[in-house]
This record gives sequence, structure tokens and C-alpha cells, in this order.
Amino acid sequence: TSSRPFNFAPGPATLPEPVLRQVAEEMLDWHGSGMSVMEMSHRGKEFVSIAERAEADLRELLAVPANFRILFMQGGGLGENAIVPMNLSRGGKVDVVITGSWSRKSAAEARRYADVQIAADIGKTGVIPRDWQLRDDAAYLHLCTNETIDGVEFHDLPQSANGVPLVIDISSHMLSRPIDWSRVGLAFGGAQKNVGPAGLTMVFVREDLLGRALDICPSAFNYETVAAHQSMFNTPPTFAIYVAGLVFQWVKGFEYAGLRGLAAIERQNIDKARLLYEALDASSLYENRVDPSCRSRMNVPFFLKNEALNEVFLADAKAAGLLQLKGHKSVGGMRASIYNAMPLAGVQALVSFLKTFEARHG
Ligand code: PMP
Repeated sequence: TSSRPFNFAPGPATLPEPVLRQVAEEMLDWHGSGMSVMEMSHRGKEFVSIAERAEADLRELLAVPANFRILFMQGGGLGENAIVPMNLSRGGKVDVVITGSWSRKSAAEARRYADVQIAADIGKTGVIPRDWQLRDDAAYLHLCTNETIDGVEFHDLPQSANGVPLVIDISSHMLSRPIDWSRVGLAFGGAQKNVGPAGLTMVFVREDLLGRALDICPSAFNYETVAAHQSMFNTPPTFAIYVAGLVFQWVKGFEYAGLRGLAAIERQNIDKARLLYEALDASSLYENRVDPSCRSRMNVPFFLKNEALNEVFLADAKAAGLLQLKGHKSVGGMRASIYNAMPLAGVQALVSFLKTFEARHG
């Protein structure tokens, strides 16, 4: 029931159309309050009810245990690359497994606060390395569980070794699948892929990890302070929290293949990814270079074996209503980001375009 094109952007990314429509409807007057959500005090009863419901729905959807605090912060994934070590490292040791561009950036930023060791590095192998050099006395081990640029995803979390907490950057697959919290100390991610508008950063932190911040940590970025103020130590990104809350309600009611909620979302994500990877693998024009064991369900990078066709591919795709397929500038080629809000019909349209284009140019 939509005439909008399909948008494969990596983030900020496509949002569920019913959410956009509801935001439009409520823009001038939220629930008879006479105010837009943008115009409300973050401490007023209207906004407090929005924030509390958003947090409760997120906790329910991801089955976040009671000993985790959910923080609504600002600063994005790159902000967290500094905020995490300022809060958790105590200036000591941090191990990082590099599986792509974002974990590499996290390691580089953490070096400003901690003694960072690269525990393993994927390099150009396209497969997550098995052997990790881990230090028993590390303050934490950092992973990026979905590498947005490289299209590499952890489909299982490692068992935390010797009680070293695991820190995971879930920016680009948050809410696409369940999380095994028994293996996690802290998870963080920006909203602008699966959750809502840019500006909101979510942090899930196990309570025993609070209270370790370095003195240099800004108060607004001190997890213990933010938690003690229910994410209202400073003004939170109110509009982004409101839209995220609507996305959470949309996920809760999502139905697919006889399932409902996050299970339905995950099943659709599995089906969408399989459809696209199968089409790429069957083709002689396109190729994805990631090992099948760790291919991302969210971000599917691919290359045209004849790179001279890149520009015409993008122009034809756009004309066919398939937007923002250009790969990240650091790797080139193409990338289809197929987050929760991308319907199966969008991936079907992409696959049929891939075939038509190959038949014409392959
Ligand atoms: N981590 C991951 C996995 C990401 O995909 C991104 C953004 N694409 C970031 C971190 C950085 O996020 P931000 O731009 O919100 O700082």
C-alpha cells in the first residue's frame, strides 16, 4: 500500500511506514496535549510516559534481565568508543577482536584511555578468526557483533572467558534478533538503523559494571550518573526516543510466518538474507566475499565483477525504485542494507532487478 521506493541505506535508514505516518499525525498535537513531542519538557508527565513505555517495551522485546540498566544517551557509536573505556577500563587492559572497520575504530579510540591489545584480526580473510589472544586480567573484551561496512556478523556470542566482561557494539543489528544476555556485560548502539532517528544511543549495562568511571569521564557520559537519573541527567534526545518507542510498538505487533514480535522480525530477516545471498551466489556478475558462516543478515556488501558497470547499475537501480545501494567508500562496490523495516517485497524487488540487470549486461 505504499508507492515509496525501497531504501537500502546503511543508516540513517528506512523506517516502518506506519511509524512515519503516526509521527506525521501526531506532529502538531500529541494525544491532545496541544504540543508536539519536540516541544515538551523532558520532565513533564507526557514525555516521561513516552520514555518509560519505550524503555519497558525495549526491555520486553529483547528480554533484558533485571540486573541490566537501559540508558538512553547521545554520542552515537563513535561516542561510545570513548565512553565505554572511560567507564569500564579503569585505565587498564582492553582486548578487541577486529572483524571489520567499526571494531578497528573502536580499538583505535580505546587506546586513548586503555592498554589495548588486538586479540585477533579478520584482515581480508572474510571469516571471523577462531584463535583469540585474550588476557585474563583485561577489563573487558570488545566485539562489533555486526560490521555494517564489511557485512560480517557474529551468529553466536563467545562464552566470556574467566569472567572478563564482553562489550558488544550492536549498532547495526540491534532488535533484529534476540541477544544472549548471559554472555554480555555491556551492549551499545545508535538508533539510526533498526530503531529510529539518529541522535539516540542505547546502552545496556550490567549493574555490577557501574561505578568504575575514570575521573576524566564527563558526568553526562558517566553510566552510573545517567542510570541514577533514569537517563534524564541532561536533556535526552526526546523526539528520537519517541519515534524509537513507536518502532518498538511496531516490532511488538509485527506478524510473519505465523510468528509475532521479535521472533517474526528475526524470521523475516533470515528469509530476506537467504533470498539475497542465494541470488548473489547463483550469479556470475555479482559476488559477496564474506564466508557463509558469518555473513550479515542486515548488511550485504557485493561487488560487480565488471566494475565499469557500477555507475549504470546504481542509476538503473534508482530508476527501478531501489535507493542508496552504493557501497561504503572504503570498500567500494555495492551494499544492500536490509534492516527490520525493509519488507520481504523490497528484497524480492532487488533480486529481480539483479537478475534483469545481469541478463542485460552480464
Ligand atoms: N558502530 C557501528 C557498527 C556502526 O554501524 C556505526 C555507524 N554506521 C557506528 C558504530 C558509528 O555510529 P555513529 O555514526 O552513530 O557514531
